[in-house]
Amino acid sequence: MRAVVLDEFGAPEMLRLRDVPTPVPAPGEVVVRVAAVEVSRTRDLGTRSGKHPFSQAVRLPHVLGGHCSGTVVGAGDGVPRDLVGRRVAVMGHHTCGHCASCRSGADEACEGLRLLGIHRWGSYAQYTSMPQECVHPVPDDLDLYDAAAMAATGPVGLTQLRRARLQAGDSIVLPGATGALARTIVALTRRLDVRVIGLSRSVTGRAENLVVLDAGREDLADAILAAAGGPPAAAIDNVCAPDTFERYFPVLAGGARIVVSGAIGHPALPVLNVPARELYSRNLSLLGVRSHSAAVATEFWQLVRDGFRLDAETVRAHPLSDAATVHTKIADGVLTGHNVLVPPTATDRQEVPE
Ligand SMILES: [Zn+2]
Repeated sequence: MRAVVLDEFGAPEMLRLRDVPTPVPAPGEVVVRVAAVEVSRTRDLGTRSGKHPFSQAVRLPHVLGGHCSGTVVGAGDGVPRDLVGRRVAVMGHHTCGHCASCRSGADEACEGLRLLGIHRWGSYAQYTSMPQECVHPVPDDLDLYDAAAMAATGPVGLTQLRRARLQAGDSIVLPGATGALARTIVALTRRLDVRVIGLSRSVTGRAENLVVLDAGREDLADAILAAAGGPPAAAIDNVCAPDTFERYFPVLAGGARIVVSGAIGHPALPVLNVPARELYSRNLSLLGVRSHSAAVATEFWQLVRDGFRLDAETVRAHPLSDAATVHTKIADGVLTGHNVLVPPTATDRQEVPE
């Protein structure tokens, strides 16, 4: 099969399309013909550079790529045969099931968490394989490009919203409003009657329950209060740019929750200056969300089967062969939001695993 292979850590040009062996289904696993894989800034660009903590778990040569979508074409021993032929979303996390976190139901903190595209070859390829429990059938009318984008951001976005403990009528600060995860969060908040104050360095505007403010404006604190109609109840900050944090932090409501699942606000990973006294005097919570539990993933895909969709035209598709260019454009901020890579169609029947 064709796959984008990383032989050495470094610049985007290290990503090269070439032939590698097609995966065969191991016991308990499925092989999926990949329709689309979302490019993740944190996971993919960070890992490729060799400078992200994820890189230490990678053995070269390597195939990047996590959450994706496609069609099940092979099933190992113990996997129901009726999964073969199903259109699915593939969650790129697999938990061990027996550590203390897994046993207590907090499997997102699994000590043995295995990530597709980090601990095993990923989905920048025509085929990928994962344990059966990581695939979720998707509705026939759901575009598989959207399914890949949802897999990458839906369950983690839902987890962040849960941690933010929002109630109807609340408002929330959302730095990095043009990012992929942020767009999914905005779509999810429409079901909750929550007003979103997005912050961005590149765009401003307004749509339905969303107002996007220029993150760099001098009067940002006042602008947030005006747009929110009062102190916001929470922030979901997956950028953690220190200067932006220092502007919105003072205007959060007493008891507010600040939820963090990413940290792309500085090339060397940002460090936030958190006034410790205010954490207790204002009863604030600073919460890290690493990923999502298997239960939340199941819940999210049920929402999708019940009709949840991303906004139209939020997903941009690129040929897999353009992986290096897409990495460069995301790093430069030229591409934002959901960007998926689409592998070449496998027409050679020899390539389809039995
Ligand atoms: Zn575990």
